[in-house]
Amino acid sequence: MSRKLFIAGNWKMNTSQAEATDLAKALVEAIGSVDQVDLAVCPPAVYLSSVANALAGSNIALGGQNVFYEDNGAFTGELSTAMLKDVGCKYVILGHSERRHVIGESDEFINRKVFKALADGLLVILCVGELLEQRQAGQTDEVVVEQIKIGLEGVQGSDMANVTIAYEPVWAIGTGVTASPDQAQEVHAMIRNLLAEMYDDSVADATIIQYGGSVKPSNAAELLGQPDIDGALVGGAALKAADFAGIVRAGM
Ligand code: PEP
Repeated sequence: MSRKLFIAGNWKMNTSQAEATDLAKALVEAIGSVDQVDLAVCPPAVYLSSVANALAGSNIALGGQNVFYEDNGAFTGELSTAMLKDVGCKYVILGHSERRHVIGESDEFINRKVFKALADGLLVILCVGELLEQRQAGQTDEVVVEQIKIGLEGVQGSDMANVTIAYEPVWAIGTGVTASPDQAQEVHAMIRNLLAEMYDDSVADATIIQYGGSVKPSNAAELLGQPDIDGALVGGAALKAADFAGIVRAGM
């Protein structure tokens, strides 16, 4: 089955309002009409509206970096699915390693948010990945399987078209160290087998599995050329229009 590549930029807690809109405009100029690859950017929440305006009419979709599982109420600092949709978001990143390991989110907490986001029509990018010590201890598969099984608990096969999985080994995020194409491919193939067990072959074949972890223009083609790597979630290199565009072109 041929899957359409999906490349998304996670801007994390970076940019000012002016920088965010300038970056979005530069991306529209460089890759805004690309249609061979699905594209999204996930700016800081306070800049979503400005970035939405800058992306208007282009093929670059907007995503949030997080969302909460309640509709409204006394949840200081949180954002609802309706709020993200209201400002034009199509996607939301959930379970990013920085939220797992810096903020302390559990698989169960992430699962509630995955469930809510899907129920309310957002497309979910569910991030999973092992720590360096877990890889060194030979626990990569075990960790990733548990993150996916709990993260997707209750999610039906019919909803899986709305889920992208991003495999992001934590030791490769923001470190400049990239998993080798073989290392990444091995885990991606394991994830696809897991999806076949949890759902069926057609769900496993159709699910987009992105790689994330120090992806840059110079390593993107080899990573994206692996049979089970269907795109990239890009952090640092997503903050420079030329680099993000270079990664997208490497996938075309
Ligand atoms: C990420 O934040 O999801 C990420 C992969 O970051 P970087 O590309 O900087 O490693």
